[in-house]
Amino acid sequence: MRFLLPDLLYSEGALRPGLAVGLREGRVAGVVPAESLPSGAPVERLPARALLPGFVNAHSHAFQRGLRGHVQYAEGPDSFWTWRDRMYRLANALDPDGVEAVSALAFLEMARAGFTTVGEFHYLHHAPDGTPYADPDELALRVVAAAERVGIRIVLLRVAYARAGFGLAPNPLQRRFYDRGPDDVLAAVARLRARGVAAGLAPHSVRACPADWLSAFAGFDGPVHAHVDEQPAEIAASLKEHGRRPLQVFADAGLVGPAFTAVHLTHPDDEELALLRIAGGRVCVCPTTELDLGDGLFPLERAAGIGLCIGSDSHALVDPFTELRSIEWHARAATGRRNILGPAGDPDGISRALLDAGARGGASALGQPGGTIVDGAPADLVAIDLTDPALRAARLLPALVFSGHPGMVTDVWVAGRRVVTARHHPDAERIVADAERVLANVTAT
Ligand SMILES: [Zn+2]
Repeated sequence: MRFLLPDLLYSEGALRPGLAVGLREGRVAGVVPAESLPSGAPVERLPARALLPGFVNAHSHAFQRGLRGHVQYAEGPDSFWTWRDRMYRLANALDPDGVEAVSALAFLEMARAGFTTVGEFHYLHHAPDGTPYADPDELALRVVAAAERVGIRIVLLRVAYARAGFGLAPNPLQRRFYDRGPDDVLAAVARLRARGVAAGLAPHSVRACPADWLSAFAGFDGPVHAHVDEQPAEIAASLKEHGRRPLQVFADAGLVGPAFTAVHLTHPDDEELALLRIAGGRVCVCPTTELDLGDGLFPLERAAGIGLCIGSDSHALVDPFTELRSIEWHARAATGRRNILGPAGDPDGISRALLDAGARGGASALGQPGGTIVDGAPADLVAIDLTDPALRAARLLPALVFSGHPGMVTDVWVAGRRVVTARHHPDAERIVADAERVLANVTAT
């Protein structure tokens, strides 16, 4: 048993002085007043630091970190769909070593930014020609190995991908993604779990999975994530195929409940929002990717009562602070109003709600405990530099959420193990060099 004693500890919705957190066997072992620490107990003081629960990145495609900077411009008209073609070219250019190296770079950047858990929405399964690897889980295990190299906690959301879309011929650029049937997907999840990997299920979208596949996943034991209502064309195709919008298709297959997370939901109608609210499902908002790809804005102003979490998705930016505040800011920009998320009469209410989405909301979406600093929770923690100019002469909690940035994250613990120390990750230089060597041989544009 040891203790961390920061200047401020985020506990029960506020930054509080004079509290120490106990750590034992990877878990939080109590929050105790500093004056009642047992004498002689090992205590590490963290002066000028606030200690928060680690952020949870509930939606990531780690290999897409290789697109950074290469896809911000294209000749001619550019859209989500033309971006996607270029993303597919990267997806097909990476061998297993490359997938692992680029994933490690993404996870390194996440850890440095304060993410302690990632939900990896993993759809690279096979060799580029579609042939399964000798170990059919080769690439999933490479992504898990990358997370272990960095020290970040991972939940592997094993993607089911059946087809290019309703009525479309198979797309040769998607051969690495295709499964033969839903039973193969469930078998892959079972194999991963048997190897100790925390694994969930991710029917990619109504575009990629027909209704009979979705029905085969009903009753799945664990988190279920899917892209929903990301683009208007996806909704139009769903209406044409099913006569129903995407979330209704997932619901009719029996998948929308407390374990379900709709990723994006940038174009829902009110019936879909009501459906998700009543079912107790969540939305994973990925604001920076949704801006970057032109997906649209999540309509927070119509989503009261729906649980939220965040993802950095394509990794155009890896910054939990920007993802969180953008949920509120986008709704302000869209409505011309302010204070969309916060309860009346509470100056810290919006910030508290956003921090909750960034930690506890993401953990819940991934079927994990934690996201709060309470007895028995995983000891996944981040230390914030209270001397950062962005936090000075300010009301602290709103400043942290609305002005925070990854540079103020100094130390990161995952399961009680210190992964980042004084802004330094011990393997950072080699991780970056390995990814640069891989990507130098890949034309991402
Ligand atoms: Zn995605």
